[in-house]
Amino acid sequence: MLNSHQIAHFCEETLSLAKKEVDSGGLPFSAIVVDEKGRPIGQGVNEVNTLHDCTAHAEIQAIRVASKTLGTSSLKGTTLFASGEPCGLCQTAIRLAKVSKVIVLLDRHEVKELGFDYMWTYVEKADSLFVRDTHLSFKNKAEPFEQSPKDLKSIGL
Ligand SMILES: [Zn+2]
Repeated sequence: MLNSHQIAHFCEETLSLAKKEVDSGGLPFSAIVVDEKGRPIGQGVNEVNTLHDCTAHAEIQAIRVASKTLGTSSLKGTTLFASGEPCGLCQTAIRLAKVSKVIVLLDRHEVKELGFDYMWTYVEKADSLFVRDTHLSFKNKAEPFEQSPKDLKSIGL
């Protein structure tokens, strides 16, 4: 676990990264992933507009770099610092990556007050976006799931 000095240091680094991004015309979202020994292993900023990728949020970009650094999709034991509270998408990515702790500089309400409202990303909508096709009756549609080796199933997503 990181000590209070390390936490303060990476909060400053996260803030500095966000400031730098805003200075260069970007959004104020930044994230840094730090391993158990206090080493930064990945950082990111919001690149949605530059990459034309709606998933290129700062936290996800940082997770991508950290995963490459460690050579694994599991970031167990790491701490993720974020300039703003991770949105619904990023919270899921953080859980999938098994990040152990998240430290945010501003929560979702504070960020909303500052003009960035992504409260809607936390709402689970039971709408018609996701439809399970019941018209077609492929008998083999479960095959890819059934045929996957058990050891891969235990890894999960
Ligand atoms: Zn996000």
